[in-house]
Amino acid sequence: MPEDLRPDKLREELLELTLSLEEWLRLQRRLGAKGAPRPASVTAAAPEHSRPQRPTLAEIREELGDCRRCKLAGGRTHIVFGEGNPQARLMFVGEGPGEEEDLQGRPFVGPAGQLLNNLLAKLGLRREEVYIANIVKCRPPRNRDPEPDEVAACLPFLLKQIDSIQPRVIVTLGRPATQNLLQTEAPISKIRGIWQKYKNIKVMPTFHPSYLLRAPRERLKTWHDMQQVMEYLAAHEAD
Ligand code: URA
Repeated sequence: MPEDLRPDKLREELLELTLSLEEWLRLQRRLGAKGAPRPASVTAAAPEHSRPQRPTLAEIREELGDCRRCKLAGGRTHIVFGEGNPQARLMFVGEGPGEEEDLQGRPFVGPAGQLLNNLLAKLGLRREEVYIANIVKCRPPRNRDPEPDEVAACLPFLLKQIDSIQPRVIVTLGRPATQNLLQTEAPISKIRGIWQKYKNIKVMPTFHPSYLLRAPRERLKTWHDMQQVMEYLAAHEAD
C-alpha cells in the first residue's frame, strides 16, 4: 500500500484539515460572520420581502373604479382600461378610445384596431401576447385629442400599468401618445423611428393606425419602425 494511503496517515491528514477548518471558523466568528458565506448569485437577489411590490393590473383597475376624475367620464359608455398579457415584453400605447372601443370597453377594436391586428399578425405576434392601452381611458367627444386636464387625471394610471407590466419596449402610436408619455413637444414626424426612453424602458414612436388608414403610403415607415422593435426584442430575449 502506498505510504500516503495508509489509515494512520489518512487519519492524520483528516485531523489536520479539521483543525484548520476550526481555526478558520474561529477567525470568521472573530470577524463577525454569522453563517457560511453564500454564492454571489443567491446573495445578489434582494430577499422577497424587501423587493419593491408592484401593484397588479387588477389592483390598478380597482383603484381606478368608476372613475369621475375628469370631464370625459360624462360622455363615456365604458372605461377602456387596456388589455393583454400582464407580463408583455411589448406594449402599445394609443391616444384614447374611439366609438367602437367606447362601446365594447376594449382598446383598438374599431377600424384602427383592425389595422393594428394586421400589423401584429404580419410580425408573427398575437394580440394576447402584447399589452395595449391608451393615454386616456374614456372616449373624447368626436375623437378629439385628449385635453391637458384629462391627460393629467388619467396618465398616472397608465404609468402604473407600465410599472406593473415592465415591458421591454413600448410603441407609442401617434402624436398624443408619444408626446404625453415622453413629455416632449417633438413632432411625431421628427421622432418616429428613433429610439426614445421612458424611465429604463425603450420607446419606439410610430404613426397611429388611424393616420395609416388615411395615408397608406406611410405604412412602410411603421413597418420599418416595428422591424427595429422586433430586432431589439430578439436580441434581448433573455432580459
Ligand atoms: N385609437 C386609439 O388611440 N386608441 C384606441 O383604443 C382606438 C383607436
